[in-house]
Amino acid sequence: MAPNASPQRQVIILLGGPGSGKGTQAKRMTRLLGIPHISTGDLFRKNIANKTPLGMQAQSFMDAGNLVPDEIVLDMLFQRATLQDCSQGYLLDGFPRTIAQAEALHQHLSNQPAQLKVFNLLVSDEEIIKRISGRLSCTACGNVQNRYFSPPTKEGVCDQCGGKLVQRPDDRPEVITERIKVYKKQTEPLIRYYKDRRVLITINGEQAPDVVNRQIMLTFVPKHTP
Ligand code: AMP
Repeated sequence: MAPNASPQRQVIILLGGPGSGKGTQAKRMTRLLGIPHISTGDLFRKNIANKTPLGMQAQSFMDAGNLVPDEIVLDMLFQRATLQDCSQGYLLDGFPRTIAQAEALHQHLSNQPAQLKVFNLLVSDEEIIKRISGRLSCTACGNVQNRYFSPPTKEGVCDQCGGKLVQRPDDRPEVITERIKVYKKQTEPLIRYYKDRRVLITINGEQAPDVVNRQIMLTFVPKHTP
């Protein structure tokens, strides 16, 4: 997107429906690539937990499975993305979710050049429903476990920190259906958007997390031309 960008500075986007594994992959990638993970969903959840005005504005949209309005998201995101730890780039999880957000990011990057790479994690609706209905999130450390795939050793207790595991309010079955609908209508058009800009890499998100991670990380290995 920015052809003269310094090769060191990378902005990575993880696209994919709810429960496609964006958060899981982002946590691994941020460790391996040494750039911060910015999850707009996590930023909103923190604001809600701390009862900030931003959290209160976002909560009703999130609880209904709808997107938080662009102007709220954009302010929050760009404030975060201009902090010092983002000087070498950052990894976006859950942003952009609309074409307007993608355009705003494009505009932002024209002042702060970076190489853009977009991964689309492809997962079927059936798999999404199965994954989300079992998802349990730790209220203390943010660790995510799953009732079916990675059940907690002790019911309701996080394996990582001993905190309390709960179902996210927007992971309730009636909200999941709405989130999938919103994803298809508002976020899926971004696949075409980034494909046209030749920065999209599609990965089969139904594979084991290790396999998905390996396939993603292989795209960062420099190709040698003889
Ligand atoms: P996530 O944790 O990415 O699944 O996001 C949870 C919820 O936060 C979404 O269903 C939206 O209500 C809200 N949200 C997160 N990121 C965005 C965004 N980029 N634009 C609008 N709403 C968002």
